[in-house]
Amino acid sequence: MADLRDKLETLNTYIGFREPPIDVVGLANLLGIKVYDAPWPESVSGKIQKDERKGGSSGFAIFVRESDPETRKRFTIAHEIAHYVLHEHLIGDGVFDDAMYRSGLASNVERQANNLAADILMPWSYLTPMINGKTAKDLAETFNVSEQAMQVRLGIFA
Ligand SMILES: [Zn+2]
Repeated sequence: MADLRDKLETLNTYIGFREPPIDVVGLANLLGIKVYDAPWPESVSGKIQKDERKGGSSGFAIFVRESDPETRKRFTIAHEIAHYVLHEHLIGDGVFDDAMYRSGLASNVERQANNLAADILMPWSYLTPMINGKTAKDLAETFNVSEQAMQVRLGIFA
């Protein structure tokens, strides 16, 4: 089990050497996690679980609802990566996130995962210098996130 500091260092180094949009599958792979599509109903977004057969070198695999829009899949993958980085000790047999990113874990734990997912997808180091004169829609395209996710990041609530 890699400790939190090692994981955050891997994550920050990865992000620091890239341009947006951040490749979240590449980040997962670097952390030793494999990512798969799954044929789920609309009520389920993603899952992270220990998986001896399908897991990467960390032992974990992420599954994401294959028919979700790309921006949503990217957020889901970032959210599940965040569970691995921050909450590996809580994952147990697996964490199943519904469409609202509720899983049975405490709501503050889900909030932490959403916050780190936003940090992965929309790092302030790239976002801040770009904000001036751009709309949330422009920035959402640059970072390949939903306009809604960018509005939340920017503190704009429609
Ligand atoms: Zn979650």
